[in-house]
Amino acid sequence: MCLICDRIDMIRRGENPCFVRELETGYVVLGDHQRFYGYTLFLYKHHQDKTELFHLAPAERARFLEEMTLVAQAVSRAFHAEKMNYELLGMGDGHLHWHLFPRRAGDIGPHGNGGKGPVWWYPMEKMYSDEYRPSAGERAEMKQKLQAELDRVFGPDTAGANRS
Ligand SMILES: [Zn+2]
Repeated sequence: MCLICDRIDMIRRGENPCFVRELETGYVVLGDHQRFYGYTLFLYKHHQDKTELFHLAPAERARFLEEMTLVAQAVSRAFHAEKMNYELLGMGDGHLHWHLFPRRAGDIGPHGNGGKGPVWWYPMEKMYSDEYRPSAGERAEMKQKLQAELDRVFGPDTAGANRS
């Protein structure tokens, strides 16, 4: 089993503190580390042998992309991004999942190409340091902000409300 399937199992058991909302094709979760404030992931519901966007049937793929786009809109509004970054990687875990990063000018400091570039050019050991793990209270506040914006783009949450 992969790490993301594990996280989804936790959501289904009501045990994932980062879970925000269930959509038709996936789950919205906050990132464990918040060095880039508002970092959110959108996890595709299924795994099996579907590890590329082109493995999905066209209607399913269109829905997945549409939902990801609207999640990014909600993240941008909730956390006041200057620009959203969208990434579907998967060399670590092939499970389809979007990394949605709210970006602000100067947020990688002097790293990267004179302070410009993807979040991954910020030092990994800093990005994943414990100081950027939100407290339970901070996480609750972030989830509330994001849920409010998700309500605006998707309508009120019915399926997954208050599951975690
Ligand atoms: Zn998986």
